[in-house]
Amino acid sequence: MPTLSDPTATLILQIAKIGKEHPSHPDLRFIDPFAGIVLADGNLDINHLDDLDGAITRRELLARFLLLSAVLDQGPDMVGLRQWVQRITNDLYRQQIDFLHNPIRFFEKLRVGIDKLLEQHECVKKLRAEDWARSNRTNPNRYNLFMDNARQALGYAVFRWGVPLALIHLLHQDRGDSTTPLLDHLETYPSTEKMTQKIKDDPRYGLGKAIGDKGAHLFGKWLVSSFSLIRRQEESWQGLSYEVPFDSNAGRVLWRTGYLLKWATEDDYTHHKTPVLQKGRGKGGKNYLRVTNIRGMSPSRRLNLPSEICEAYNEICITHLKTHTKAPQKIEIQRIQHAYLLLHNKENPASPLSAGDFDDGLIFIGTHYCFNHDKPQCPECPISNHCEGYQKRQDLITEYRT
Ligand code: SF4
Repeated sequence: MPTLSDPTATLILQIAKIGKEHPSHPDLRFIDPFAGIVLADGNLDINHLDDLDGAITRRELLARFLLLSAVLDQGPDMVGLRQWVQRITNDLYRQQIDFLHNPIRFFEKLRVGIDKLLEQHECVKKLRAEDWARSNRTNPNRYNLFMDNARQALGYAVFRWGVPLALIHLLHQDRGDSTTPLLDHLETYPSTEKMTQKIKDDPRYGLGKAIGDKGAHLFGKWLVSSFSLIRRQEESWQGLSYEVPFDSNAGRVLWRTGYLLKWATEDDYTHHKTPVLQKGRGKGGKNYLRVTNIRGMSPSRRLNLPSEICEAYNEICITHLKTHTKAPQKIEIQRIQHAYLLLHNKENPASPLSAGDFDDGLIFIGTHYCFNHDKPQCPECPISNHCEGYQKRQDLITEYRT
């Protein structure tokens, strides 16, 4: 199919294939409560996911941890952040504070939780700060895993850890004897995408500002694609049923490769209602990119998208995301790659690619080659042949930061 060999398709498919080989998700092998769930090779023991572990199933236990992790999974150093969450979880479980099984235990033992947050932050800082500072050409003293550059353990514990744990506790109360109250609740929504919206803004169960768009979509990606925990079989709960999370690594790669400039101009990104491009507001006075703000933005240019891509786009919105019941009036930039992936999957049913693969590819490239400074590792980067910034426009690399 010629559409799948055009430069846009080539870039999208190459990124997704890289992501399939280099998945990005929390490593569960060294987290105590999952000792019986994860095999030595890191894969889940899928034959026993529905076995009981106390009053809930292992599947539910894992979904709870992923929800908490999705809320927490942001900041300058993902590796350190995940180590921090792992260490706190293990420390609490070793003191019989089984907060994933019984979320109320986290609040009852808040003092221990706060102590562990602070203590383990120092341990991870000692292990990670120098490497992190070297990769990012910054000062190791700036290493801080608390969000929004805050340093208050109480606020972090109660807001970021407490809100998702309170949701699980509430679902326990509302759903009586269910062994999978969180999963039962999530699966009431018609699609993963709808679930990611409701996990934020449902009037009773929404986490509100405790979770961002990125975190909500990360949760969807992990549940559906990374760990296959969802029991519903429809396409609206499969690999193209949620939008890409778009963290800062993803945004940097999409910008530098020229991908985002295929759909809109710098001016459009600057003047979007939630600006994607903020002139002069990045590190060192460079232009700051906040790609998570792209959601809902339409291409400004008259796009001559091939008709099969337009049809695939409509199918994505109606059947997979379930955000529309008929063909949408406008295209949204953050969903365009889904149409290419869907066409690829129809042509190659034995080797499908998901939105999660695309996201994982962006994360892998962003964290291994496309560093947030003037001299990323372009010669070694696996997509350098398709990268506008490397091939033609150095300013896409030197003048923008995420
Ligand atoms: S070639 Fe360079 S600028 Fe382009 S994606 Fe790779 S590391 Fe980033």
